Amino acid sequence: SEIQDFLKKAEIHISELSASSLRPITHFSQIPPSKLMSKKPFVTFNTPTPIQSASWPYALSGRDTIGIAETGSGKTLAFSVPCVEALSSVKKSKRFGGHSTHARAVIVSPTRELAMQTHAAISELASLVGLSAVCLYGGVNKDEQRVLLRKNSGADIIVATPGRLKDFLSEETVSLSEVMFAVLDEADRMLDKGFEDDIKQILGSCPPREKRQTLMFTATWPMSVRGLAEGYMVDPVKVTIGNRTR
Ligand code: ADP
Ligand code: MG
Repeated sequence: SEIQDFLKKAEIHISELSASSLRPITHFSQIPPSKLMSKKPFVTFNTPTPIQSASWPYALSGRDTIGIAETGSGKTLAFSVPCVEALSSVKKSKRFGGHSTHARAVIVSPTRELAMQTHAAISELASLVGLSAVCLYGGVNKDEQRVLLRKNSGADIIVATPGRLKDFLSEETVSLSEVMFAVLDEADRMLDKGFEDDIKQILGSCPPREKRQTLMFTATWPMSVRGLAEGYMVDPVKVTIGNRTR
């Protein structure tokens, strides 16, 4: 079929190619109408990359999604679009718990550089629909970030490295109890860097997996990453680009 041909040509493999498999989004205009889509120009790129094409239909429909694709394949936008869509489609609930910043989405990144890049990219989309994003990372004084969080007590999206986020969770500067959308970016790298316990604590601070949407992006698919998916995602669809033995 036409869909099968497209998937084959772009070297896309979807873990469940059943009758229910969803049609890839091959043009930005195919993203379902929404607050974000009504903003022109929503992106300046011509066409979605394969990981975007194949993962968006699932992630945008609320499904837990795993994306396996090499560096430079456009994974940031692959999770940023569904994240901003999910948040903008739901009314902000009343915050509770006085002093904490209650985020509605959390994106965990392995390094300060990646967190900053991701924050820059998702902030651009988020601001189109009136959402805010804060970036938290280690190696700098906490006070500045505390001030930033206090100013954004309703920060919608937190992009963070695991260690610093864990610190802010334990001192209750940040609460993840309102999170509806969680992303583990570069999951393989985070595990290589020894962040497994931090990640588990972070996801454990979010609502249970049945009550949130969880996305995971990784360049490789080792047992350790599979274990994380099994423990923290609900029936995820797995979209792999290119060499499946990676
Ligand atoms: P990854 O996270 O997979 O390593 P990035 O999300 O950082 O990749 O994207 C790599 C580069 O590709 C970035 O410069 C980004 O702006 C660009 N990019 C993302 N999506 C597209 C697209 N649909 N078309 C062209 N370039 C894109
Ligand atoms: Mg990336």
